[in-house]
Order: sequence, then structure tokens, then C-alpha cells
Amino acid sequence: MTVFSAPNYDGHEHVVFGHDAETGLRAIIAVHNTRLGPAVGGCRMWPYADDEAALRDALRLSRGMTYKSALAGLPFGGGKSVIIGDAKSEKSPELMQAMGRFVESLNGLYVAAEDVGMTVADMDEMAKVTQHVTGTSKTSGNPSPYTAYGVLRGIEAAVEHKLQRNDGLEGAQIAIQGLGAVGFDLARQLHEKGAKLYVADINRDAVTRAVDTFGATMLDTHEIHAVDVDVFAPCAMGAVINDQTVGELRARIVAGSANNQLAEDRHGAELSARGILYAPDYVINAGGIIEIAHGPDFGNDHDETGIYDHLDQIHDTLSEIFQRADSENAATNFVADAIAEERFQTAI
Ligand code: NAD
Repeated sequence: MTVFSAPNYDGHEHVVFGHDAETGLRAIIAVHNTRLGPAVGGCRMWPYADDEAALRDALRLSRGMTYKSALAGLPFGGGKSVIIGDAKSEKSPELMQAMGRFVESLNGLYVAAEDVGMTVADMDEMAKVTQHVTGTSKTSGNPSPYTAYGVLRGIEAAVEHKLQRNDGLEGAQIAIQGLGAVGFDLARQLHEKGAKLYVADINRDAVTRAVDTFGATMLDTHEIHAVDVDVFAPCAMGAVINDQTVGELRARIVAGSANNQLAEDRHGAELSARGILYAPDYVINAGGIIEIAHGPDFGNDHDETGIYDHLDQIHDTLSEIFQRADSENAATNFVADAIAEERFQTAI
């Protein structure tokens, strides 16, 4: 297993391997960059096939957090932690406390948040032994509506830029893939703006609710990405823009909440070459971390006006990215990366 030459190592400041004999904890904390502030990022528990897969995930996700926070204008660096194990069968309060002690050993360099395989109760266990945890039952709200609002503002920016429409989303046709915590709330907000919705989810109940509540049109999960609409909004899983799907897209815009929508960076260039405007995922889906940053975990009072002002900046940041992509004849994902790098590499 290599570390310094791993594909996503990319100058990580710290990569720390933690083990606790009593509980069997095996975990990795990756701190990519702390120039803008402490490395804030999720703690994920997953039954990785091997140590290398766990390291790869930690490095990739931690690097992504640096870019996300930099473009969201947050005083945070990027970090992520992974616990190797099955969250359903191997998690215990003792294990979570051992993870908390591991986080504590970095003295605040890394602040853990909830991620795949974690619950608010798990964050509470970690908080018994470290203060460097967010998303506990004492402090957390539900970030999903804020994420959905950020995506809505991002869609508005994309529609203004690509379709040259400045009269809102009335009648805009939007296909939402995934009606979970974010996707369903996005559907609600878009419906309130007068958009015409197409929806798909493997969960039939969620689809039925969207059809009944918002008058949405139900589509098959295999065809939602290929429907001829203004906006395709991926709000389920990653890598939905890949070698197979990229040629099937008929939407003018791709803008949704899912993380890691591009299977590879080159698919961003492919979208651009096909005349499809892509709202880089980590820019448009930053609403959740923006909300957390305004909360008591970071000494703030969760002022709704301040949060929504900050979320509105997602619109402006994306407009800047779209304009720069046009003038530099570059793909939007590469422009977003470049702006993020300008911010965190020049910070003192
Ligand atoms: P969620 O688990 O609540 O919802 C995901 C939905 O996608 C579920 O309803 C699921 O049934 C559906 N789904 C799964 N596979 C599907 C498929 N093949 N086709 C169609 N639907 C499918 O998750 P969420 O919190 O709504 O997050 C959605 C996405 O946004 C994820 O990629 C997540 O990482 C990302 N994200 C979420 C937040 C947040 O605040 N929750 C913040 C940033 C990014």
C-alpha cells in the first residue's frame, strides 16, 4: 500500500492511522489542507475490502472537503475520517468513544461530522470524549433543506446562464433523480417556483408522494437521466455522469445535490463539449456544511437570515464559474477547482 504516491495523496498535511486494541477500532483520519481553518469533514464507517480502499476513500473525500469549504467561503480546511467495519454489525458505543479519542488526539486539527454509516447517537458517543465533533443531538439540525435550497439557487444560476432566462423557474422542466432527504425537499421548493417536475427513485413511496403532492411525472430510474428537459438534477448516488450516460443526456443543464457526480473529471469536459452546462457538485451542494458552520458547534447562533444570505452566495459563485468557463473555454469543474485552489493555496 502506498501513501505518498497514492492518486489522491495530493500533498495531504496529515494521514493518521488509529487502532484501539480493546474495541478493535481501525480508522484513518486524513487532513488534506488546513490553511483556511480546521479540517472539517465526515466520519464514514464502511466495510472496505482492504486497507488500501479505506485509505483511497479517506484521501479522496478529505481533498474534496478542502475544495468544497474553500468555494463556500468557509473558514474550514478539508479532512475526512473512515472507520473500517460494518456499521450494522460492528458498531458499539465503546467503538465510537475510541474513535472520539482518536479525533481528540489531533487537538482540533480535524473536526468530525456525520457521514455514511453514522448517526446522531454515534456523534453523541464521540462527543463524550472530544469536543471536536459536530452533528450531536445537542447542536444539530437537519441540513438537508438547506442543501436543497442551495441546489435551488444553483439551478436558478444555471438557468439564467444557459437558457438566458431571468424570470424565474416557472414552467422550467426539471428531472430529479432520487427523492430522499434532499431530492424531495428540492422537489417541494421547485414546485413552489412553478417548475414542471419529472422524478424517479427506487423507493416507490417517495415517487408516489411526489406525484400526489407536486403533480410530478413519474419516470423509470433507468430513463430519468436521459429525458429531454431543461435540468437534470442528480440527487441520489455518485458517478451518474459516466461513459455510458454522458451520450444519452438530453438536458441542457446538470445541477443536483449528489456527491461525485462525474465518474471522472474528463466527463466534465465531455459535458462541456456537448454543450451541457454542469454545476460542479461540491459547489452546488455546500448548503449542509454552510448551515453547520453557522451553528453552535462553531460558536454561532444559527441565525436563519445569515444562513440564507450565505446560501445565496452559491448562486453567485456558480455564476462566476459559468462566466469564467465561457471566457476561458474550459469545463466548469476545472474552473471550480482552479478558483478553490486560488483560495486555499494563497491563504496564510
Ligand atoms: P438520501 O439517502 O436521503 O436519498 C437518496 C435517495 O436516492 C433515496 O430516496 C434513494 O432511494 C434514492 N436512490 C438510490 N439509488 C437510486 C437510483 N439508482 N435511482 C434513483 N433513486 C435512487 O440522501 P440525501 O441526504 O438526500 O442525499 C442525496 C445526495 O446528495 C447524496 O449523494 C449525498 O451524498 C448528497 N448530499 C447530501 C447532503 C445533505 O445535506 N443531505 C449534502 C451534500 C450532499
